[in-house]
Amino acid sequence: MGGCHSCFAIIRSAPYMHRNMSNTALMPIPGHSDPVPVPRDITPREDGRIDLIGLPKKRIAELFAEAGLDAKQAKLRAKQVYHWLYHRGATGFDAMTDIAKTMRPWLTERFVIGRPEVVEAQHSTDGTRKWLLRTADNHDFEMVFIPDADRGTLCVSSQVGCTLNCRFCHTGTMRLVRNLTPGEIVGQVMLARDALGEWPKGRMDFADNAGSDDAGSDDEAETEYTADGRLLTNIVMMGMGEPLYNFDNVRDALKLVMDGDGLALSKRRITLSTSGVVPMMERCGEEIGVNLAVSLHAVTKDVRDDIVPINRKFGIEELLAACAAYPGASNARRITFEYVMLKDKNDSDEDAHELVRLIKHYKLPAKVNLIPFNPWPGAPYECSDPDRIRRFSNIVFEAGISAPVRTPRGRDIDAACGQLKTAAEKKSRAELDRLYAEKQAALG
Ligand code: SAH
Ligand code: SF4
Repeated sequence: MGGCHSCFAIIRSAPYMHRNMSNTALMPIPGHSDPVPVPRDITPREDGRIDLIGLPKKRIAELFAEAGLDAKQAKLRAKQVYHWLYHRGATGFDAMTDIAKTMRPWLTERFVIGRPEVVEAQHSTDGTRKWLLRTADNHDFEMVFIPDADRGTLCVSSQVGCTLNCRFCHTGTMRLVRNLTPGEIVGQVMLARDALGEWPKGRMDFADNAGSDDAGSDDEAETEYTADGRLLTNIVMMGMGEPLYNFDNVRDALKLVMDGDGLALSKRRITLSTSGVVPMMERCGEEIGVNLAVSLHAVTKDVRDDIVPINRKFGIEELLAACAAYPGASNARRITFEYVMLKDKNDSDEDAHELVRLIKHYKLPAKVNLIPFNPWPGAPYECSDPDRIRRFSNIVFEAGISAPVRTPRGRDIDAACGQLKTAAEKKSRAELDRLYAEKQAALG
């Protein structure tokens, strides 16, 4: 990361902003007093062209119309381009063989199909892959792919850094740099498909474009379209950042991911993890409809206030009541409670019993995910002993609630939960404490 660590630094650095982020609007984070610069949906690049990634079909049609196509043409072209972008993974207009050859340079002059830049790709011994990515305005963030026997999960980032500062989380030691745009969020899924070689091959014909141009004169491989077995089957919004503090962009990106005409991933295969931004949870269920995971991590006010400081704003009772009301939650679609195992902090038998009591009290359709703490340099905690974790898990299981222990993945490349942090610099304990106090003050 380029040393620009707070949103205020971005706001103050006028020349820099003018060049790279001229099209930002200040949006208050719900429940938070800091203004965060958020690029609007269209961010013209330095060359004046517009990046189409992250835009819904309707918006693409509007842009084509503004660029001079008549309404009918604009709509048809938007439909074709959209399909090529999200269904076929095209990264240039030249590949779009059902669009007239003369039309393709017209598109190339005005629009681009962006992907975040890949700065570094790492491969863990356990098969986990981590990519360090860079935005067009030079901010680094990460995504992680975790292959399993029966699924492949992409862990997607929603922000560069995080305004919150959960004590056990490495990302929490970064300041928030900015929210990622819908294009940068959906772009992660597209990059993963690029890297895994998972775009369908072969030709695609539109029923309603017959005779509209010289499509068909190109030599595309004559293979049939195949929706072959995919490696990337699930998405978790568990990378860097708090997704519900970037609600609109996360929603718009996930809508693209779920759109049957595009990436077409089922909402049942997408999970959004929140540290507990209560005011946004209902909208998350209503407007996105994905599975919910909640970073609970503690069952008493004292401990949760300390390790998940947003608890001071939205307490455990309020949080669990919002979970009980989460639209779409049922025994078939349970809410996942994430619980990081911290030695002598939150891992006692009493904690396990209280967890069970709370889940039953709020009648929550719940499962518990026990996460062994993943260490990072300067972290103030240790992971609980394996016996302690087993005992904790058994208590919850015996009460009839599923409580598997998550196997840490990708630890050797710092890709495991809570290890994501792009800035290479190491902070001293004093610096970490200062940052903690600063973020606490911002929470009010
Ligand atoms: N901001 C969101 C999503 C990103 S964090 C949230 O907090 O839910 C994804 C998960 O990793 C969360 O449950 C988080 O609490 C957990 N986590 C963070 N740091 C960790 C660490 N060092 N070891 C294990 N899990 C960690
Ligand atoms: Fe932010 Fe989530 Fe890390 Fe907490 S656990 S600091 S909310 S990314």
